[in-house]
Amino acid sequence: MSARLDDYFTARDRGALKKRGITSVADLFRFFPRRFLVPGEKTPLGGLPLGETAILQAEVISVDTRRMQRRRGTITDVLVHDGQQSMKIAFFNQRWLDKQLAPGLTVVFAGKVEEYRGQLTLNSPTWLNRDEHDEKWTPEDLNSPFPVYPRVKGIAQTRLWKAIKVLLDVADPAEFEDPLPSAMRADLDLPELRTAFNDMHRPRSATATEKAKQRWKWEEALALQAEFVSRKADYEQLEATPLLNVGARSERFDESLPFYLTASQLRVGAEIEADIGRRTAMHRLLHGDVGSGKTVVALRAMLTAVDSGAQAAMLAPTEVLATQHFRSIENLLGDQMALSPLLSGDDQVRVALMTGSMPARERKQLALDLATGQIDIVVGTHALMSDTTMFDRLGLIVVDEQHRFGVEQREALRAKAGLKVPHTLVMSATPIPRTVAMTVFADLDVSTLDEMPAGTKNITTHAVSLGDHPNWLGRVRQLIDEAAETGRGTFVVFPRIDPSDIEDPETGEVTGHRGGIEDLRERLKNSEELQSRSIELLHGRMSTAEKDWTMAAFVSGDIDILVSTTVIEVGVDVPRATMMVVFEAERFGVAQLHQLRGRVGRDGSAAMCFLLTEAPEDDESFERLREVAGTLDGFALAEYDLGSRGEGDVLGASQWGGSSLQHLSILRDAPIVEEARDIAEKIISVDPDLSSLPALRTFINRVLPAESAHFIEAS
Ligand code: ADP
Ligand code: MG
Repeated sequence: MSARLDDYFTARDRGALKKRGITSVADLFRFFPRRFLVPGEKTPLGGLPLGETAILQAEVISVDTRRMQRRRGTITDVLVHDGQQSMKIAFFNQRWLDKQLAPGLTVVFAGKVEEYRGQLTLNSPTWLNRDEHDEKWTPEDLNSPFPVYPRVKGIAQTRLWKAIKVLLDVADPAEFEDPLPSAMRADLDLPELRTAFNDMHRPRSATATEKAKQRWKWEEALALQAEFVSRKADYEQLEATPLLNVGARSERFDESLPFYLTASQLRVGAEIEADIGRRTAMHRLLHGDVGSGKTVVALRAMLTAVDSGAQAAMLAPTEVLATQHFRSIENLLGDQMALSPLLSGDDQVRVALMTGSMPARERKQLALDLATGQIDIVVGTHALMSDTTMFDRLGLIVVDEQHRFGVEQREALRAKAGLKVPHTLVMSATPIPRTVAMTVFADLDVSTLDEMPAGTKNITTHAVSLGDHPNWLGRVRQLIDEAAETGRGTFVVFPRIDPSDIEDPETGEVTGHRGGIEDLRERLKNSEELQSRSIELLHGRMSTAEKDWTMAAFVSGDIDILVSTTVIEVGVDVPRATMMVVFEAERFGVAQLHQLRGRVGRDGSAAMCFLLTEAPEDDESFERLREVAGTLDGFALAEYDLGSRGEGDVLGASQWGGSSLQHLSILRDAPIVEEARDIAEKIISVDPDLSSLPALRTFINRVLPAESAHFIEAS
């Protein structure tokens, strides 16, 4: 018999299957039932999904066929019961059902749930009699759990099931080659691939199916970790120039700091220093809460590079961020920063900013200075990666906000360092939960800043439901005014620039209107409390010059209230800002709100943050705001976020966004991930190319997106 999809499905079927991600027999085998109907168990008839296809199992109470009054034909009413409640199902022109569906039988029905005269019913469902011997079904079918697959348009469940069962018997043996090493299966008591497929598609027992389900998790965990471990092993082969703390610049910098480094900064600094002092390239992730002092740590590493005679580059995802980093570095270095490449003292540092919007001539000169080694540290955006940017002796790259940079981009930059590769420090603006670091960033070594500098973080946050308490807005405006009175600035954050329509999610009909950022500014300006205050806008559609001018005016106090989009999210340092008011706060993520809030109280003075929403206090979205208001601990919020927002979102923001993890939960399966790591290390240490496990290699390419899977080249 044939083992190809084409012989079981028409072109149209295959189109529908493709929408479900099924284009091969292997995909079909991995298209698992969502649940099973177990013989003898009845499906609760309450709460069937109206308008959707349901598969249910119930006992027949009565069957009654009569002639229709207005039309020709018959109608057969079948009354079924789940032990608690009953439901009537009507069949048209199938009077033979009288004989087949006898009272007392337990039958599986599948059909669309509809409402008829206020009662739920199934519209001409297909059915399968479990108790009677029907020639279509083997006794084995009737006595085993009945799989319920996710719906594939145009293909009946039973037809899909049959095709899978036939294919399980006739498919090429290669389809059953196991990605899991047999020793691992034996140790963990996991079924073989063929057994596990069978236990999903024609399950022998619930226990066997449960065991198979464990197997799918282990497969994914092993694939992820094998990929990471192998990539890490490859990194360790990459030769780099050792960067040693030998010069005067880093020492002078340490002495000039107006504060003591935290124990955490010292520890992480030592981790980085040890790494970059080696002949193999560092690949390290630095993460920590907003304000934990990552910039200082990164700058110290860059100064060590410069002391060793190398150049350092800092890569930021946006121009605003690059500019902010440049300014922070400027501030931290003070008079240690050289005024220009030509005017620099011995222990001074030549720092430059490169962005896409620089005038062409300036950029050309800067490129020349970089290529001839006249610049020590360059901060920039993607412009740094263009073909025209060359370095004289690039030794260290600091990448800010890792997740927005793909692997390919990092490779492009690395290629600029010539024969040796630069050391790489990846910085995350927000803390990363341990379980995520272990999976998503497992090819990197991880440094964590888990301590806040003393005297910071004096922020009180209030979640306010304007829906429940409309008049609290006036009180908030009054507080903004009082802050301005004492020379303090307020950030007002708004989720969009333009006005937008409110649409009914069901009908798509426009039911209302939401103002844009300019409307908000007008509303504040026209309020009694704030009419005498200077209120300006800041958003991504303004030119760089306009943005710079506005920020400068806000920093100096010429602007009292800055109404802004999230362009201020990361990095912006305005010490005199002590108030933040977020409108439509429910539209922002937990991590984003925490990040935003980090913008106020930067000088250590008491700050306030208001999270405003129209959502009522008993709404789920308000619960999230309450959570943010309840703690200043970014690590705790990151964990909460992972749990409440779902992993897809968390992964989606990372370079693994395209990965198709279907069974492994980063949150719940941490122990599996951890153990898979050990197993992967053992495997890769003896078989770096996985030549003894070709099926694992294939599976890695299946699970990881093409851009990032590394074994594609190997296979
Ligand atoms: P992050 O990038 O982690 O959000 P930054 O490096 O921007 O944090 O530091 C936040 C602020 O704290 C900066 O103004 C910085 O100068 C200051 N800072 C950094 N380290 C310390 C420290 N050890 N003690 C006091 N202030 C510090
Ligand atoms: Mg920073």
